[in-house]
Order: sequence, then structure tokens, then C-alpha cells
Amino acid sequence: MTTPLSTTDPSTTAVHAGREDLTALGLLVPLIDLATTYPMPTIEAGGTAYDTIGAGERPDGQATLVYQRLWNPGVDRFERAVAALEATESAVAFASGMAALTATLLAAVSAGTPHVVAVRPLYGGSDHLLATGLLGTEVTWATPSTVAESLRPDTGLVLLETPANPSLDLVDIAAVVAQAGEVPVAVDNTFATPVLQQPALHGATLVLHSATKFMGGHGDVMGGVVATDHAWTARLRQVRAITGAVLHPLAAYELHRGLQTLPVRVRAQQESAGVVARWLADRCEVSRVHYPGLEGCDPAGLVGSQMTGPGAVLAFRLAGGYAVASALLERLELVTHAVSLGGVDSLIQHPASLTHRFVVADARPDADLLRLSVGLESVDDVLADLDKAFANLP
Ligand SMILES: *Cc1c(COP(=O)(O)O)cnc(C)c1O
Repeated sequence: MTTPLSTTDPSTTAVHAGREDLTALGLLVPLIDLATTYPMPTIEAGGTAYDTIGAGERPDGQATLVYQRLWNPGVDRFERAVAALEATESAVAFASGMAALTATLLAAVSAGTPHVVAVRPLYGGSDHLLATGLLGTEVTWATPSTVAESLRPDTGLVLLETPANPSLDLVDIAAVVAQAGEVPVAVDNTFATPVLQQPALHGATLVLHSATKFMGGHGDVMGGVVATDHAWTARLRQVRAITGAVLHPLAAYELHRGLQTLPVRVRAQQESAGVVARWLADRCEVSRVHYPGLEGCDPAGLVGSQMTGPGAVLAFRLAGGYAVASALLERLELVTHAVSLGGVDSLIQHPASLTHRFVVADARPDADLLRLSVGLESVDDVLADLDKAFANLP
């Protein structure tokens, strides 16, 4: 295609965003530019490009791109595609989800507002980064209803996840934005993806992703991205250029390709996750299933308003506690015991021991909880694997 996208349907946006100029270039897929450095016509042209890109702005068409840590055309394409899907002005991509969060926190610290109000639960790595204060942040842990009272004059960011990792708790983004007032709200949208939820439309200033999960979708590429407005984009690009957590051009290519099938994967995996959640809810070995699509798991009715669907990740508690959780994991054959989520393979893991291991004890997930990311296998085969593992428990 050669014209700017006029659609609002994510399926079309996913296929074409960031590729609007390809047909005119005689291309169907983007070229991968692996260059670490670029020829400069004159010292002045190089200096001007340095200034432009260093200020977080887009280089003009003829300008030298200077150096891969400052700019890469394939990374730019992926960023434009994510911004289109998230309905934000722009986006900034990073080497991982944690690098994306790190840059966001450093931008807040360098603006002289190092205090962060964070709604638990968060991904264990995010919790750990904030709890250690490694980047110069100071955290106040909040619930969705205590955000307003947790704010201080030096609060630079409110951070939340919905659905949250690993409890699948939902947070009303607009309600938190209202409490935050002038303070920007950052939403980790890794679990929902822009296919099911666009936090910027509910007032979030920053939308974070571990692109390693659903966006890549095949367990073979690591990345992170922040979709946001122009002002934050400039600050994040500056932080990225200075600190260096850039997305590799090959990874950008894979992630951009991953976006093309994101809607179809998310919807298919979500359909299976609903079946698996209801099946687990009927098992006597399972004391509780956490899945926003189940009755009782979404008291505020956010599925259908804030989200278009409950997603493809669920968690469940074993009545027999840790011993049974551990025995179940060892007996699964098709469903792989591994961290990460959102890929074509169904993955299961024990958050308290693994992804959330470094969260302080009183906020750590309970030992009876397992998190399951449902993949693209036949749901009958996933259920058969679970059924066999339950039947073989000691
Ligand atoms: C995995 C994950 C992250 C961290 O992303 P990486 O790409 O592993 O650095 C952040 N937030 C959520 C919700 C995640 O699941």
C-alpha cells in the first residue's frame, strides 16, 4: 500500500502500519538495515543530524542517520506501527521490556520527580526494580483506590498493570488517571496488547510493553516499547541514545512482522484460554481460577468497556498447595514449564518461585498459584495434557 492508513480496525493496522511507503519503494517487506554507522556528507550535516536525533526528533529524509544507537529505519517502522495500534502520537522501542521501564523511570528521575506511585501487583521484575530504588526512584505502593493519597509534589509517575501479572486483577485506568491529576500514568499493557485494550484512550500518558511476549509471539525475540506522546518520545529517545538499550534491527524486523498476526493470534489464544479457564474452574483439584472472563473475576465490568476481551493468560490455585502445583508441572508434556507468555506455545510457570521470586514476601504471589499462557495448539490437546497430568498426580 502507498497511502496513509485511514482505518481504525486493528487487523488492518497490524498488517500495514509502518509499511505505508513500501509499495512506492518497490518493496513488499522492509529491508533490514544493519549498519552501525552512516556516511556524513559534511561535518555540518553530521552535526545537524546529531542535534536533531539527539533531541529526540525524527531526522529528515535526506539527513545522515549518524549511528545505530541514535536511529535505525527498521526500529522506526516498528515504533510507528505500535503507535498506530496504541492510538498514540509515537513510540520508542528498547532492547527489552525492562529496558523500556528503565528508560521511563530514568526520564522521571532526570526531570526531578523521582517518586513513583505503583499499583501492585506488577510483573516481578518491575516490582524488584522499583523496590531496590536502583535508578534513584522512590516508590509508594498503592492499591487502585489509594493512588490519590499516595501522590507527593515530587511524584513523576503512576505505574499500573491491567490485567496484572500474575493475578490477572483488572484496574480501571480512567479512575486511576482521574486520581493522578497532572501526574502521568503509565500502563503496562503487555497482557492485553493493543488488540484488546488501548490505555491511551482511557487517559494513560505512557503505554509499556514487553514486546518479548505477544508482539513477538514466537518465543524468539526480545524487545520492549513505550507508546506515548511527542514530548515523552523525545525524552525517552534521549535516554535511549545516552544509555544504549537499543532494539537490534533484526529484532525490530521480527517484532514488526509479529504485529501483523497479533490480532489473529490474540483472538485465537483468547478463545482457547476461555475454554481452559472454564474447564479448570470445574476441577476439584483447583480451588480458584483467575481469569477476567470468568464470573466474579471482573466485578467492575471492565471487560466489554475498557477491554474488548479477557485475554489469553490465566492463573489458578491448587487446593493441594505447592506440592500439587509442583507435581502438576512435572507431569505436563505438551504445555511447557517455562517463564514468559504470549507466544504460540502454551507455557506454565510458578510465579512465587520464578517471575516474582524477588518480590518481598508479603506481596509475593501465594505458593499454590500457577500462571498459564494459552498458545495456539488445539485446545482439546491442551485440555488432554492437563487432564492426564491431573490424573497422574500422586
Ligand atoms: C515480561 C514482562 C516484562 C519484562 O519484559 P522483558 O521483555 O522480559 O524485559 C514487563 N512487564 C510484564 C507484564 C511482563 O510480563
